[in-house]
Amino acid sequence: MNIPGGKQTIDVSDVKAVLAALQSDYLTTGPRVEQFETAFAKAVDARFAVAVNSGTAALHAAMHAGGVGDSEVGCDDEVIVPAISFVATANAVLYQNAKPVFADVEPHTLRIDVADVQRKITSKTRAIVAMDYGGQPCDYAELRSIADQHGLMLIADACHSLGGSYGARPVGTLADFSCFSLHPVKQITSGEGGVITTDDQDCAAAMKTFRNHGIASNHRQREKQVTHQYAMESLGFNYRLTDLQCALGMSQLSKLHDFTRRRNEIAARYDDQLQDAPFASPLQTVAGIEHARHLYVVRWNSIATGVTRDEAFQQLRQSGIGANVHYQPIYQHPFYRRLILRGDLQAANCPVADEVYESILSLPIFPLMTDEQVDAVVQQLTAIASVTTVRRKVA
Ligand SMILES: *Cc1c(COP(=O)(O)O)cnc(C)c1O
Repeated sequence: MNIPGGKQTIDVSDVKAVLAALQSDYLTTGPRVEQFETAFAKAVDARFAVAVNSGTAALHAAMHAGGVGDSEVGCDDEVIVPAISFVATANAVLYQNAKPVFADVEPHTLRIDVADVQRKITSKTRAIVAMDYGGQPCDYAELRSIADQHGLMLIADACHSLGGSYGARPVGTLADFSCFSLHPVKQITSGEGGVITTDDQDCAAAMKTFRNHGIASNHRQREKQVTHQYAMESLGFNYRLTDLQCALGMSQLSKLHDFTRRRNEIAARYDDQLQDAPFASPLQTVAGIEHARHLYVVRWNSIATGVTRDEAFQQLRQSGIGANVHYQPIYQHPFYRRLILRGDLQAANCPVADEVYESILSLPIFPLMTDEQVDAVVQQLTAIASVTTVRRKVA
């Protein structure tokens, strides 16, 4: 068996789109960047989209434009981030010389726990980053009201949830800034890439400057104006997305709806088969949202099976199934432990995150996965659970 955990879907139209860009006048900072941004904004119903070269850069640019921390000098700003996310969510806060403060997660959805966010707000808090775990949008009504009450920026780490929605509103319009990743395992891909959506025109302009070293004009604009001069006004980065990548991104975007539908079919098939399984419980889905189903995560029952999560993970991998774990709490990584030990960051205090991390297991899900492959994964899980139960009885 060889079932990857996640995989891109690339067809002939993607290949054609990239080839056309490759043979055009611009490999980077050409017309395809704006075309992709316009198409992306339209797809998620946002006013502006800014393309950058990773989801991480998207988070960094959003913090910068939202006035969170400062890339030039140290500051005391705090940003509340979820305990369970990819490390980039918290790293982007540190890039801005601000301090991530970890909020716990809900045990059955792994989304940020709104009550814990509230407890962790101080006079230094500037922003809340909500991450739509596995593709399920966070409770944005509650988060918006808390953010407004305290005058905080609300940033969505929507790297899992492109294609999802909350009530009638698509992901991409639910926060001041919504940050997407275009890495191959994500909902659509440009190889590497990222996008920020916002309704704020000035912030969109600031992010375009930020991705270009802090220089407001680009080379095409200077060509038109017949000038060699440019002014660097602030400290920016080279976070530009190439035209080759934008060509792929645009081609992929046209298939987002189909990808999301197939991901939901796969999740429904897993749900059906795992509903009453004694060995694993799927995470829960809340009402009133459309799930983008980036991940399919279960909580493995090590007590009922006598098999630890890591043993189950190892056995799945040995049988060729790309199981994974998303994610170890960020503050458990050696770098963050060091910052906490030194007193540069406060200790996390997220008991739910610590506990759920021991049981979560991500099963393969990607648009090209077949029904037979879903069934094979469930069969393998069942076998892992029952063989060991038998072994225990014999012993
Ligand atoms: C993928 C991901 C990122 C980072 O995106 P890159 O494009 O890999 O830089 C950030 N946050 C979350 C939750 C992600 O899944």
